[in-house]
Amino acid sequence: MRVVALTFHDVVDEQTNGLAHSDAFYRMTVGELESLLAQLRKRSFQTISSREFRGWQQGTGTLPERAVALTFDDGHASHFEFVAPLLVRYRFTGTFFVTTKHIGQPGYMTWEQLRTLVFLGMEIGSHGATHRPLTTLTPSEQVQELVESRQALMQQLGAPVQAVAAPGGFWNRTVAAAAAQAGYEALWVSTIGTNGKETSPFALRRVVVRQPVSIERIVGMVDGWTLAFWWAARQQGVIRLLKRILGVYWYEQLKRRLVPNA
Ligand SMILES: [Zn+2]
Repeated sequence: MRVVALTFHDVVDEQTNGLAHSDAFYRMTVGELESLLAQLRKRSFQTISSREFRGWQQGTGTLPERAVALTFDDGHASHFEFVAPLLVRYRFTGTFFVTTKHIGQPGYMTWEQLRTLVFLGMEIGSHGATHRPLTTLTPSEQVQELVESRQALMQQLGAPVQAVAAPGGFWNRTVAAAAAQAGYEALWVSTIGTNGKETSPFALRRVVVRQPVSIERIVGMVDGWTLAFWWAARQQGVIRLLKRILGVYWYEQLKRRLVPNA
């Protein structure tokens, strides 16, 4: 039994042509998301949250035969406006990783909207307090960042917060240790691959959906089609290499030049 977790970012309405504050590399349209959900439904996939995945790993819960985890990063306002209604319509759930400092800012969800997501059966996890790459912080700053966001979420939502997604996908052993120390039970990263019982809960793999979006390829990955993983790994390999050569700052600058509105 292997579980694929997909990661989405901002979702835009075809009519509005995208919002300037989100990264065009990682955006997808409402139409693209809907056709992906329809394909998953057609192939009898059922969604699981981070908590359900961890329950299965720990032996306290079971998973549906065809399970997929849908995760949404950054707390974009579109997650409430477009994503949640679509998930409800397809009887799917999602895990939403939000950066606490952005909550209530223009373009991001409010506390009230997050509470509605919880009411709708969605899971809310942390995506840091400030979205700074955790690898650029000292170990004690990492713990502080992760404790602060977890406590704010638990207080405001009145729900347990067990999962964190590493901002920008930047993580290492120190970050994993900080997440455990801050009280999390799962750290989701953006290493391409599937998750099994043996996968470290502090290095859970996710496949980030990026432009150009190919619904066929994404569904192929969820279905365990190895060629699609190879393609995604190759794309991520190029991005990793650029990040390593240029460093985080210059990589972000390059992206802004390559993609308008990024
Ligand atoms: Zn992020």
